Amino acid sequence: MIPYGRQDISEEDISAVVDVLRSDFLTQGAVVPAFEEAITQFTNSQYGVAVNSATSALHLACLALGVSKGDRVWTTPITFVASANCALYCGAQVDFVDIDPASCNISVTALEEKLIAAELQGRLPKVIIPVHLAGMPCDMQAIYQLSLRYGFNVIEDASHAIGAEYQGAPVGNCQYSDITVFSFHPVKLMTTGEGGMAVTNQKSLYQRMQLLRSHGVTRNPEEMTKEPDGEWYYQQIELGFNYRITEIQAALGVSQLARLPSFIQRRRQLAKQYDELLSDLPLQLPLRNEDSQSAWHLYIIRLAIPELHARHKEIFSKLREANIGVNLHYIPVHTQPYYQNMGFKEGDFPQAENYYASAISIPLFYRMTDQEQLQIVEQLRESLV
Ligand SMILES: *Cc1c(COP(=O)(O)O)cnc(C)c1O
Repeated sequence: MIPYGRQDISEEDISAVVDVLRSDFLTQGAVVPAFEEAITQFTNSQYGVAVNSATSALHLACLALGVSKGDRVWTTPITFVASANCALYCGAQVDFVDIDPASCNISVTALEEKLIAAELQGRLPKVIIPVHLAGMPCDMQAIYQLSLRYGFNVIEDASHAIGAEYQGAPVGNCQYSDITVFSFHPVKLMTTGEGGMAVTNQKSLYQRMQLLRSHGVTRNPEEMTKEPDGEWYYQQIELGFNYRITEIQAALGVSQLARLPSFIQRRRQLAKQYDELLSDLPLQLPLRNEDSQSAWHLYIIRLAIPELHARHKEIFSKLREANIGVNLHYIPVHTQPYYQNMGFKEGDFPQAENYYASAISIPLFYRMTDQEQLQIVEQLRESLV
């Protein structure tokens, strides 16, 4: 089976990990801060908090922005469940904004309409979480402008988008958001096994995420309620978590980040080739945006005619039978049983549901050969007839 995505681990990656295993610290040493520094350099942001997953980073980001019971958080239905669950962890209510059928990202038009209605009802959201689906940046400037008008904070879920560019600048610079979150799960653009990071330019958010990453415990006398009892002393001043990442993972992260530009270069090349090879088929291909460069985490095609929608499942199965590891990103979150129990229904977000009826992620990864790509295109062509 040609998988839809696959990590690439080099001998350098392996020896970076082995070096840590031979060292004194497996956790809470110097490599985690070095990884944070490397990511902030790469994304042109001020502060990074490395954690054990992007899910943890999203949770910390919500907490740092003060999301709690009674608050509302909005995101897109076309995302992994973690983008919505993070708000529920904080006791907040989740709602969704339908997607733009061209970009498949959150629709700025739908967002504005929903904000106008919410303002009239006194139900404005505290935080919006745009997701850069497949690595293609959302229209962040427009979302930021709405945030100024309606007074919400913005967390970018950039789990698919490390290495992407928006208006000529790296995703993660937080020009139009408070916090940006990355995932380093093996299916993503670079990996630490499991892992994630939140980056921000605001020192107070950084300090709060750092505190909550490790039990809400501080060793900084300035944050304590009294003089330390002695050198051993620490204080728990909040209820935090153990969301720490290990030195082993951070070493892999530093090594993988150095390779990220070559990963993305190859992905861009493969995406361009797909664009050409698939141009004559009845498919909607990924949108190209003049002011953005996707990081190409995924290459998502959509069946472009209604007769093909009816054959979506069959086409998907034919490809799997031909050993093409196609996948579907994502099942609209509001149709998950857990969310339906909260009152969401089929029909609530028609563009997202229409997307779900027509989308297929076809394989795209760094080591994929041109030969494999031709084989995938051939099978896809056959499956459509
Ligand atoms: C993968 C992913 C996450 C969660 O990442 P983890 O590191 O596995 O916790 C969150 N949001 C999106 C959009 C993702 O693709």
